[in-house]
Amino acid sequence: MFNLAHPHLPLQVVEPRSAEEAVRVVRDAAARGERVYPVGTGHGWTHAIEGGVALLTRRLAGVVVDAGMQVARIGAGATWADVLAAAAPHGLAPLAGSAPGVGAVGYLLGGGLSPLGRSFGWASDFVRSAEIVTGRGELLTVSATSHPDLFAALLGGKHLPGVVTSVELGLVELATVYGGGLFFDAADAERVLTEWAVWSALVPDQVNTSAALMRLPDLDTVPTPLRGRFVVHLRLAVVGDAQLAAALVEPLRKLADPIVDTVAELPVAALGAIHADPDQPMPALEAGALLRDFDPAAAAALLAVAGPQVEVPLAVVEVRRLGGRLARAPQRPDSVLGRDAAYGLFVVSAPVPELFAGPVPTAVAALATAMAPWASGGFQPNFVGSLNQPTALDGAWPAGVRERLEHVREHHDPAGVIGH
Ligand SMILES: Cc1cc2nc3c(=O)[nH]c(=O)nc-3n(C[C@H](O)[C@H](O)[C@H](O)COP(=O)(O)OP(=O)(O)OC[C@H]3O[C@@H](n4cnc5c(N)ncnc54)[C@H](O)[C@@H]3O)c2cc1C
Repeated sequence: MFNLAHPHLPLQVVEPRSAEEAVRVVRDAAARGERVYPVGTGHGWTHAIEGGVALLTRRLAGVVVDAGMQVARIGAGATWADVLAAAAPHGLAPLAGSAPGVGAVGYLLGGGLSPLGRSFGWASDFVRSAEIVTGRGELLTVSATSHPDLFAALLGGKHLPGVVTSVELGLVELATVYGGGLFFDAADAERVLTEWAVWSALVPDQVNTSAALMRLPDLDTVPTPLRGRFVVHLRLAVVGDAQLAAALVEPLRKLADPIVDTVAELPVAALGAIHADPDQPMPALEAGALLRDFDPAAAAALLAVAGPQVEVPLAVVEVRRLGGRLARAPQRPDSVLGRDAAYGLFVVSAPVPELFAGPVPTAVAALATAMAPWASGGFQPNFVGSLNQPTALDGAWPAGVRERLEHVREHHDPAGVIGH
């Protein structure tokens, strides 16, 4: 489990090696009146599992690429690192997330916001079919034409009434991006974040970008010039000609002298270098919200509560630019949230459990109040955490989608065997 903040206490842990074994696990648990909790890499659990059966998917982890069809068959335990590595030799790439260690399936269930998303869309737009063991213990192949309602729930509906055992995912033709990070000093934070807010609102769809206020630990794992510092980290992934991409990024390089500049032509298999997210398990509390805008006034409001002048136990406060192809209407029914938001906000606490009871929630509440004028009122399932209201997501889906999700749950898991 990547996030160690929630100590899990299942009665049993199982690691099926095939879809058929997963069927047996679900049927046996149902017969005992126990719940089954599907677990990927544990990046996304916002609470502890108590009782029941934790079904770890890590032994269902093969990736097979059909280069001609531009598709990868992904076992439910595969990480994005596995899929990126399997696709790269064919000049292909999945719309992976920022951290290669994240489980591909857990991410796809939330829609999947890739650092390439503005250029190509939500990762779940590329799902062609999936195998699911439903709460009734049936093994189904779902697609736009087979069990279409369950398929639509899989595409961004997050808490599925079943265990996904594999997915067929379309890949994009992409070998390199112009990408990486620009790290700026605390003294430049106001200028950098304000100008990034203006710049990011106007960039074409080929530009993918986010900005993070980071309080980096004084550890060997952090590059020397960044250790123990507050920095503003501008992340970039520009698709297309590298020279044109460099010209698009140039205004950011001129904002101030970056402490570190890693932006260069990058093999897409090394996508994880852009955000450089931590890859070791740690405890953290999180919260997120979608924003309808992020203008210079929003940048100022954010800095007032999380900038270098304030002492807050927040390791990362990030703002990701959405829009572009992420705003495109879906080609088939789905449950993705975030198409209508311009930016997404996500907060990760310092990894210090002693601060989880008071200081962290207080800092996050202040941040939510400060950003309220720009909040859309919506949420993205991959970017909510235990510091969001437990019901935040319930109201996030439009009524028609919510009814469909409820209907799918009642039909495929009437006894509520699958827990999340
Ligand atoms: C460092 C970091 C970076 C991230 N970057 C991104 C990003 O760039 N874009 C983005 O969209 N998200 C991102 N996320 C969020 C991430 O996509 C979600 O947390 C996702 O749920 C993680 O998948 P997992 O394999 O860790 O699932 P887990 O944390 O194990 O599970 C999360 C939820 O998914 C369910 N689930 C998992 N596997 C299955 C399955 N096989 N069948 C049915 N249900 C299942 C679980 O039951 C649980 O409810 C990031 C998270 C972290 C911690």
